[in-house]
Amino acid sequence: EIKNVNDGYFGAYGSFGIHREMLSDKVRTDAYRSALINNPSLLNQATVLDVGCGTGILSLFAAQAGASRVIAVEASAKMATVATQIAKDNGLLADESLKCEDKKGSKVISVVHCMVEELDKHIQVPPRGIDVLVSEWMGYCLLYESMLSSVLYARDHFLKPGGAILPDTATIFGAGFGRGGTSLPFWDNVYGFDMSCIGKEIAEDAARVPMVDIVEPQDIVTESAMLHYFDLATMTQEEMDFTSSFELKPRPDNARLTWCYGIVLWFETGFTARYCKEAQAILSTSPHCPKTHWSQTIFTFKEPIALTTVESIDDSSAPVGSRECPASTIRSRISIVRSSAHRSIDASIETTAV
Ligand code: SAH
Repeated sequence: EIKNVNDGYFGAYGSFGIHREMLSDKVRTDAYRSALINNPSLLNQATVLDVGCGTGILSLFAAQAGASRVIAVEASAKMATVATQIAKDNGLLADESLKCEDKKGSKVISVVHCMVEELDKHIQVPPRGIDVLVSEWMGYCLLYESMLSSVLYARDHFLKPGGAILPDTATIFGAGFGRGGTSLPFWDNVYGFDMSCIGKEIAEDAARVPMVDIVEPQDIVTESAMLHYFDLATMTQEEMDFTSSFELKPRPDNARLTWCYGIVLWFETGFTARYCKEAQAILSTSPHCPKTHWSQTIFTFKEPIALTTVESIDDSSAPVGSRECPASTIRSRISIVRSSAHRSIDASIETTAV
């Protein structure tokens, strides 16, 4: 029953721990704040729709930036109540008893408790009259449990033609990681004891399902590749499912022989000059950037692949990617499609060494 699943999902957001985690993620929250606060020509006097407001943080930034009206939509009853209280306590809650033109300067936020898909059943939304749609919708690996489809729905129903969507781009990247990117080294030596059997078991599990984990930059053994680019201003719901073929070349500074244990994925969202004329921002979850609460997502190979930067002329019959015949390129194909389970995704990966 879909409704129960929904209740569970939005119920979870009622717990404050998740909101604390998101708000404490400075990389995340500062990217949104910068995009909202530092683009006065976009925000000043704008009508803003905040899809999934949670505590209302993005609505508060928008109000601070000079928006004339902010509609903050939240599906969780608990969080809608809390967001209303917070807007009120900060002197930013719109007084609905006043007529629009009587509203005092700063009192601009209206919190609406509903799914954004039902918004026009709850309030009178100016028909396609939203100037700026803002939302923090991203999930693990960008799309896992993401609410992107709700954001696209809101864009198509409420945003005025040419209106801004923040962020307006999302890009998925990948790179190969070495042994240090796995949990194997940890279990090799635990207070001097060999617990590598646990490491092996974890590695086998990781080869079956992608896992959310942190990969340190020094554990990256290939150059990065762009897997997929979403233009949030124009993409359709169907374009959420994608297959990407890409090649990974060993990092030029690698040792002669390096083992690649799998592929790490991460994403970036952009607040580009298309709408953010004065100040652009990028929210990156790359292993090369400061950590975020999304970490990265890793796909582990069943067997590691040997890589070399040296052109290997090899007449042996050893398989490409083995110690005897290290590969110079990893070719991979990743498919990410929405699964029938609510908000979940199915990911599959095929990899060859050449
Ligand atoms: N904007 C806040 C919270 C982001 S988390 C912040 O940046 O801190 C996403 C929020 O969106 C959750 O509170 C969740 O309950 C809500 N949400 C998810 N799907 C929604 C939908 N379709 N309609 C309204 N709210 C939704």
